[in-house]
Amino acid sequence: MSFLSGLVSRVLLATGLKKKPAAMPKRSDPCPCGSGKTFKDCHLPQVLKEARAAKGKT
Ligand SMILES: [Zn+2]
Repeated sequence: MSFLSGLVSRVLLATGLKKKPAAMPKRSDPCPCGSGKTFKDCHLPQVLKEARAAKGKT
């Protein structure tokens, strides 16, 4: 999960958020960006998209 945690931090930093989550949020947790949405309804798709892109690269 450290890989995904790193991605979460990168995504949040890329979106202008300085707050680094200590760990990968659960899907049903509030998104660490502070939008008030659940993580799965906010930044999770973006994180997963980056994860797929990272894995797709050699
Ligand atoms: Zn978010």
